[in-house]
Amino acid sequence: METIMISVDNFMDKEKTYAQAVDILKSEDVVAFPTETVYGLGAIATNERAVQKIFEAKGRPSDNPLIVHIGTQEEVAYYAEEITAAAKKLMGAFWPGPLTLVFRQKRGHIAPNVTPGVDTVGIRMPDHPVALNLLRQLKEPLAAPSANRSGKPSPTEAQHVKKDLDGRIPLILDGGRTGVGLESTVIDMTTEPPTILRPGGVTKEMIEGVIGPVTASDSQGNKESVPRSPGMKYTHYAPEAPLYMIEPDAGKIDKAIQTLHNDGQQVAVIGPDELHNTRADWYFAIGARNDTETMATNLYHALRRCDDTESTIILAVETDLAGVGTAFMNRLSKAADGKRYTD
Ligand code: AMP
Ligand code: MG
Repeated sequence: METIMISVDNFMDKEKTYAQAVDILKSEDVVAFPTETVYGLGAIATNERAVQKIFEAKGRPSDNPLIVHIGTQEEVAYYAEEITAAAKKLMGAFWPGPLTLVFRQKRGHIAPNVTPGVDTVGIRMPDHPVALNLLRQLKEPLAAPSANRSGKPSPTEAQHVKKDLDGRIPLILDGGRTGVGLESTVIDMTTEPPTILRPGGVTKEMIEGVIGPVTASDSQGNKESVPRSPGMKYTHYAPEAPLYMIEPDAGKIDKAIQTLHNDGQQVAVIGPDELHNTRADWYFAIGARNDTETMATNLYHALRRCDDTESTIILAVETDLAGVGTAFMNRLSKAADGKRYTD
């Protein structure tokens, strides 16, 4: 299959492009599209055969639920039961945006392979003009995980999608680089209080500012947590060379690089602008140290850039856990499979 990539930044043929994407989706196939978090690989969420193609293209294990994307807030009521007052407040405050709400599922609409083994459904309304346009023209919900091969870092550019899925999907809508750069926050609204299952761009503090105290599950990326909690059943976001987290300490980084060089290793380092280390064979500066939002935006891109180097080991500098730092460390810790560099 030939994979076509079309830019939707350009105003010219936009309508034709959306019509083409809608046709492909209605013919039970998949389309990759940009959202404000990462690129998604969408299929009509009510069509089991279409959804099956997502798993095939990604090589994704089929027991991992997919998030359903909708174009208007009203649609939630078609697929979800027990929409609480707190859920309504969160939708009002953060939709469209990077927050997925898990509800009890209304039976008979969403295809069973979207939510294998659970009676809930995760739903969000993405805050990206291309995603919203596509959803509104399609007038159907889209099941859409990130548009990468399973295990790889999520795509933040159309080129990343092309690299992973070329020849496996018919169409990529290119809307430029994504803004948030990490997947949505996932919050389970079926528990009391609600539970954050996955940290993301909408932080715990932001959520608590709207609905009061919530709990956070144990895969929150704090440095003490056990690396292999149930939510971390599969390897994720992993570059090719082994990746280790390292403290944001210039002296320790320097010493680590020296030791690794003595062992004949080639070292790539991902870290803040301020710790740029000239001994590193490659240093990917991903933003100012106190600007975790920018660092989050650039993390996956940097992980993918490491694959273009000859590095035999990657060190990635930890951030603190304030704000988006929780989500940053959650993804980094999964990419590193919990490994921290110690000499
Ligand atoms: P991805 O599709 O790669 O963005 O990952 C989606 C993640 O959202 C899954 O791995 C789950 O952790 C979470 N998720 C989606 N739907 C549900 C659900 N119904 N119940 C619990 N977690 C969910
Ligand atoms: Mg993913």
